[in-house]
Amino acid sequence: MPDLLTTVPERALAVYAHPDDPDVACGGTLAQWAMLGCEVTVVICNDGGKGSKDPDDVPAQLRLRRRKEAEASASLLGIRHQEFLDYPDGEVENDLEFRSRLVAIVRQRRPDVVFTADPTAMFFGQGYYNHRDHRVVGEAVLDAVAPAAALPHYFPAAGPVHQVTDVLLSGTLEPDVWVEIGATVDAKGAAVGCHRSQFPDGEEWASAVVRIAAEDAGHQAGVTFAEGFKRLHLGG
Ligand SMILES: [Zn+2]
Repeated sequence: MPDLLTTVPERALAVYAHPDDPDVACGGTLAQWAMLGCEVTVVICNDGGKGSKDPDDVPAQLRLRRRKEAEASASLLGIRHQEFLDYPDGEVENDLEFRSRLVAIVRQRRPDVVFTADPTAMFFGQGYYNHRDHRVVGEAVLDAVAPAAALPHYFPAAGPVHQVTDVLLSGTLEPDVWVEIGATVDAKGAAVGCHRSQFPDGEEWASAVVRIAAEDAGHQAGVTFAEGFKRLHLGG
């Protein structure tokens, strides 16, 4: 039987590299949980300034455009807390400085569930391998959640310790838990469509692609629309 996650946590935190990543990865789940009273925080680590094939694009302008796109999509999904860490694309490292910021965020927001990218997912068929920033951020988030955020001798100046209950890894080759997103699949499509700098074909195209992906995941889960994750159950 597919493992369908039906419990809505009190607080959730989604930490991703680029401004469009959280919407693509888990926008349906975040919208659904926010609608049901979960306090959702989204953290975007990279500024998105290099996310263009056009040599005439100016990174300093693109990052502002992408921030506005992310703000618009968050408001569509009902997400009220959004933080931008603004590392230039390709320049985030899983180092002490980055982990100390992530640990401070985890200890401050105190989420039950943390979403991030599966850092072990490398090759997706023959046509795509995972962006470095996705892998670096995913690995640093895992390192920040456990053991660092939960133990007092790691980053003692970063606030009182906090034990995250579950981590849900998106962009995974090994999904083992699903969230049914029938009520929010259209909101997810609209949110992804906000990132026009990345998906210039517009909202209708984005909605169609989102629905197809959600149907695929739903097929695995035995429901119409879903998002799939690899779950790590750490406590509680
Ligand atoms: Zn990305």
